[in-house]
Amino acid sequence: MSDQTRFLLNETDLPKCWYNVMADSPLPPTPVLHPVTLEPVTPDFLSVLFPMELILQEISAERYIDIPEPVREIYKLYRPTPLHRARRLEQALGTPAHIFFKNESVSPAGSHKPNTAIAQAFYNKAAGTKALTTETGAGQWGSALALACNFFGLDLEVYMVRVSYDQKPYRRIMMETYGAQVFASPSERTQFGRLLQAKDPESPGSLGIAISEAVEVAATSGGAKKYSLGSVLNHVLMHQTVVGEEALKQMEMAGEYPDVIIGCVGGGSNYAGLAYPFLRQNLKGGKRTRFIAVEPTATPSITKGAYAFDYGDTAKMAPIVKMYTLGHSFVPPSIHAGGLRYHGMAPSMSAFCKAGLMEAIAVPQLTTFEAAVQFARAEGIVPAPETAHAIRVAIDEALDAKEKGEKRVILFNFSGHGHFDLSAYQAYLSGKLEDYAYPAEEIQAAMKDLPQVVA
Ligand SMILES: *Cc1c(COP(=O)(O)O)cnc(C)c1O
Repeated sequence: MSDQTRFLLNETDLPKCWYNVMADSPLPPTPVLHPVTLEPVTPDFLSVLFPMELILQEISAERYIDIPEPVREIYKLYRPTPLHRARRLEQALGTPAHIFFKNESVSPAGSHKPNTAIAQAFYNKAAGTKALTTETGAGQWGSALALACNFFGLDLEVYMVRVSYDQKPYRRIMMETYGAQVFASPSERTQFGRLLQAKDPESPGSLGIAISEAVEVAATSGGAKKYSLGSVLNHVLMHQTVVGEEALKQMEMAGEYPDVIIGCVGGGSNYAGLAYPFLRQNLKGGKRTRFIAVEPTATPSITKGAYAFDYGDTAKMAPIVKMYTLGHSFVPPSIHAGGLRYHGMAPSMSAFCKAGLMEAIAVPQLTTFEAAVQFARAEGIVPAPETAHAIRVAIDEALDAKEKGEKRVILFNFSGHGHFDLSAYQAYLSGKLEDYAYPAEEIQAAMKDLPQVVA
C-alpha cells in the first residue's frame, strides 16, 4: 500500500450525482442580468440560448443532481480517471511533501472538458435541439463538444479564436474528425465578426469575441441552434464535480487528505470540479484545506481585476454576471495557454475568492513551461500549457514545504495533456518563448467599459 503510485476506482464507483456547491455556500447568490435592460434575466431570455433543463440547473439550490444514465454510460469511456501520487517528481524536488494529481488528460479529447460537454449535448438532444454553436480557445473545448455532439447526433459549429486556429491546426482536424464545422474567429459569418474584421484585419481574436459570434448565431437561428459554454456558468462547474467526488474517494484509498488543492483557472471549471467537493468538507465537515486558483499574469482576472457586474462576452450579447473581470473588451496577450485567455471568472469562484474561502495567484508564462518540462521529465506526461500553471504552483508549494521541513499533502488537477501544444514546447525549448508584461494600460482602458449596474 505505502508505495502505491496510482489510485484506481472501479466503474461501479463512478459518481451517480453532481454536486451543487450553491446549496452549501454561505454567500448569497448574485443575480444574472439581461445585457440590454440590466434587469435580472427571465428564463425566457436564457431559453433562446440554452435548453430548460440546463437553465434549471443554473439556478438550482439542490445539493445533488442525478447524472442521467446515458451520460454515465459515455463517462465510462474514460471515467473514473486515475489519481496519481507524483513520487518521481517528489524525489526530483527532494521534498517531504506528498504530491497527488487527478489525471483528467485520459479522456478521449485529452482534458476535463468532456465532463460537461457530454452532459450538455445530452440535455440539448433531449430538448429537441438540432445543432449547437460554441467558441473554443486552444481547441480543447471544441474537441470535447465535437466528441459529445457526435455521440448524440447533433450538428456543431465551432468559432475558434484565430491565434489558436493558426497555432493549432491539429485540434481543428480533430474536431472535424468528430464531425464539427470550425471557423476562425473573428469570422465573416456574423455581423459582429465582420465589424471586427473591418476594424482590425489582424485581430488575434479572444474567447470573449468568439463567444459573441457563437451566441449571435444561436440567437438569430429561430430556435434551431442553441449555444453551449465550456466554463464559467454554474451548471458547467457542477458537471465537473465528478472530478472532485472521485478524488475524495481516491485520497481516502491513499490514506491521506489534502492540505492544499491547486488548479489552473480560465473560467474556473476544471478547478471548481476538483475543489468544490473538498470545499464542502471545509464548509460542513470541519476540514481546513487551502484552495489556490492559478491564473496567468497575462489575464490576471482574480488578482488584478475588479469584482463587478460585467458581460460574459465582448459584444455585450451574453448575460451580465458578478465576477472578477478585466473588462469584457480586454483582449489578452497571445499566450500559449489559450484556455486561460478569458476576461472574467466563474461567479461562484469569484465570490469564494472575494470572501477569502479560496486564494488566487498569477504566474508568468516562462516559469510555467519550466515546471511543465520538469514534470514531463519526472512523471512522463507532457502537460497542456494551461495545466502547467497548476504544476508551477504545486512545485512551489512542495519546495516551500521542503524549506520548512513540512510533510504537506498537495493535490492538483492535471486538467489536460499537451500533445497538441508541441509548437509551444518547441518555442520554449529553443529559447524563443517570451513573457508578456502585465497588460496594465489595456486593462485600465477595458475597465472604463464596465456596465453601470445599480446593485
Ligand atoms: C479549457 C482548459 C482549461 C481552462 O478552463 P477552466 O474552465 O478554467 O477549467 C484548463 N486546462 C485545460 C487543459 C483546458 O483545456
